[in-house]
Amino acid sequence: MNLIDQNLRSIKQRIEAAEAAAGRQKNSVKLLAVSKKQPIEAILLAYDAGQRSFGESYLQESLEKIMALADHAIEWHFIGPIQSNKTHGIAAHFSWVHSVSHLKQAIRLSDQRPPELGNLNLCLQLNISGETSKSGASADELPGLASEIAALPRLSVRGLMTIPRYSDAPNQQRQQCADTQRLYQSLQTQHPQLDTLSMGMSGDMEIAIEQGATIVRIGTALFGSRN
Ligand SMILES: *Cc1c(COP(=O)(O)O)cnc(C)c1O
Repeated sequence: MNLIDQNLRSIKQRIEAAEAAAGRQKNSVKLLAVSKKQPIEAILLAYDAGQRSFGESYLQESLEKIMALADHAIEWHFIGPIQSNKTHGIAAHFSWVHSVSHLKQAIRLSDQRPPELGNLNLCLQLNISGETSKSGASADELPGLASEIAALPRLSVRGLMTIPRYSDAPNQQRQQCADTQRLYQSLQTQHPQLDTLSMGMSGDMEIAIEQGATIVRIGTALFGSRN
């Protein structure tokens, strides 16, 4: 067994334990393997261990991997910043995008999504910490943004993504995750099709699962540190 295989097993155990601790169903949380800045060999090791969903943040780098692994049954998720010149590549090569925070980005993704690929699954990124350095829509902007984007063709709005501000104090992490869950649930009353809360990374996945995450995005705990 290689290290990535071992890490994958222990992450799955952590997820399962967190699901149980929160009284949630087994397998209600999906693991997204964040492979940004990791070589193709690392992705293949995770793939051989059974992992099928991978997250990437940098378009150029990800397109090389997607081309090289075209004959593998991988579901690719784009989780990085979206500049306008990136939307075409995202729309043409990814199944999911987690980092949409402006209507303009969504309009471009909708226009550029090849219809034969089916809808692009989309999460709105919420800036829950309010830090100006972070991307993401504010809580106030979310309802309007969700309604405008839900009306666009070739996109399926699935939920929210957030990156809480790191804190040594678990309760501050927990509070941000709880606030995100509350906003998610209030959006669900307008948009009952929402089923995805993308929240939790290597350092805070237990808290995120406790607060309702349905996708955790795990990089370093699986692959080790990035180059
Ligand atoms: C890099 C990244 C991750 C993975 O973070 P780790 O701490 O390495 O698990 C998750 N989400 C986003 C948006 C990222 O950019």
